[in-house]
Amino acid sequence: LLGADGRVAPTIFTEMTALATSTGALNLGQGFPDDPGPHEVLDAAREAIAAGRNQYPPLPGIPSLRTAIAAHQARFYGLNVDPDTEIQVTMGATEAMAASLLALVEPGQEVVTIDPFYDAYAAVIALAGGVQVPAPLDLTHDADGHPTGFSLDVAALREAVSDNTRAIIVNTPHNPTGTMLGRADLEQILAVAKEHGAYVITDEVYEHLTFAGPHIPMATLPGARGTVVSISSAGKTFSVTGWKIGWITAAPELITAIQAVKQFLTFAGGGPFQVGVAAGLGLGGEVFDAVRSSLQDRRDLLVSGLRSAGFDVIVPDAGYFTVADAAPLGFEDGAQLCREMPERIGVAAVPVSAFTSAAGPNAARMRSLVRFAHCKSADSIGQAVDRLQKLH
Ligand code: PMP
Ligand code: GLN
Repeated sequence: LLGADGRVAPTIFTEMTALATSTGALNLGQGFPDDPGPHEVLDAAREAIAAGRNQYPPLPGIPSLRTAIAAHQARFYGLNVDPDTEIQVTMGATEAMAASLLALVEPGQEVVTIDPFYDAYAAVIALAGGVQVPAPLDLTHDADGHPTGFSLDVAALREAVSDNTRAIIVNTPHNPTGTMLGRADLEQILAVAKEHGAYVITDEVYEHLTFAGPHIPMATLPGARGTVVSISSAGKTFSVTGWKIGWITAAPELITAIQAVKQFLTFAGGGPFQVGVAAGLGLGGEVFDAVRSSLQDRRDLLVSGLRSAGFDVIVPDAGYFTVADAAPLGFEDGAQLCREMPERIGVAAVPVSAFTSAAGPNAARMRSLVRFAHCKSADSIGQAVDRLQKLH
């Protein structure tokens, strides 16, 4: 996990945010929103601090948050989750993923990631002594060779999974591509996992930020129980990425195994923020809709701006990010473009190659793709779009 110079290697997000700061560029790199989040959520946390709820919460999470998570799973997905035995609150989805992998993966076992993948997965698989195996997403093209979307390559997935596979990590809605896996894809993944006795660990942090119909949780599929470990987080849904309140839902024996690890990672944390998130999960549907539709407007703004700047744009179905192909502008290396853009035109972004595995084909296939965050204010996006016209 160290860089060649023996220091901590910054993540691509830290690197590009530092570059944005030092050059004064608009930061469409790191995925954090500009809007403050629903006031009910912020007020509930503020009141919890004022009321002195500032000591260690219980290991599984405060009871009111676990009850709110169970009610949320029932309300949005028709799932029946026991707040006492089937939920673990975590310090964000990141700790949830770390605790799950450290609990379930033995050294030498394989973990399949859909490629491109969120960077933390590779690091935590390595910490667990596991071996990461990529299952590449397909990049689809139209008749003229322009990219149109990403799709699950079921044959490649089947090839990646073996009896040595301990877990498949499934991120839907997907970072960086904004792809949502449909029911047929999820069924295929679950079937492959079960054939090989592997777990499926899901990362659903963008579950509410969907523009193309509702998110389908893997846990709603028949046969998921006991195989699927579901992870989500409040950061994106309520625009509070710095709070780091996440949760895991799974069968009781899996939660127990994960809890044994989580107990010694952080034990517990974020007491007053847990209160805020509990309030948020109980808010009316209009609050979730407002976050989604405001984000969709900004996605549309960025998509049309990137197109007018000359990029080929793959319109995302969900999430914080829009992926664009810089090849039509003459840039074949997205990483190099991202290193140059802040200084040259005052915009920071992240290359999709930062999410691809060197062991898979997508590092080459997705080399000219760049990820832009549309979770920023309409004003920032508007300014960024003006600056991007100068890439011509
Ligand atoms: N998974 C994905 C796919 C993400 O994009 C992110 C961060 N934005 C995380 C996990 C991390 O979530 P958290 O901040 O809740 O740890
Ligand atoms: N998940 C955020 C992104 O994809 C970044 C989180 C981080 O900085 N590690 O941009």
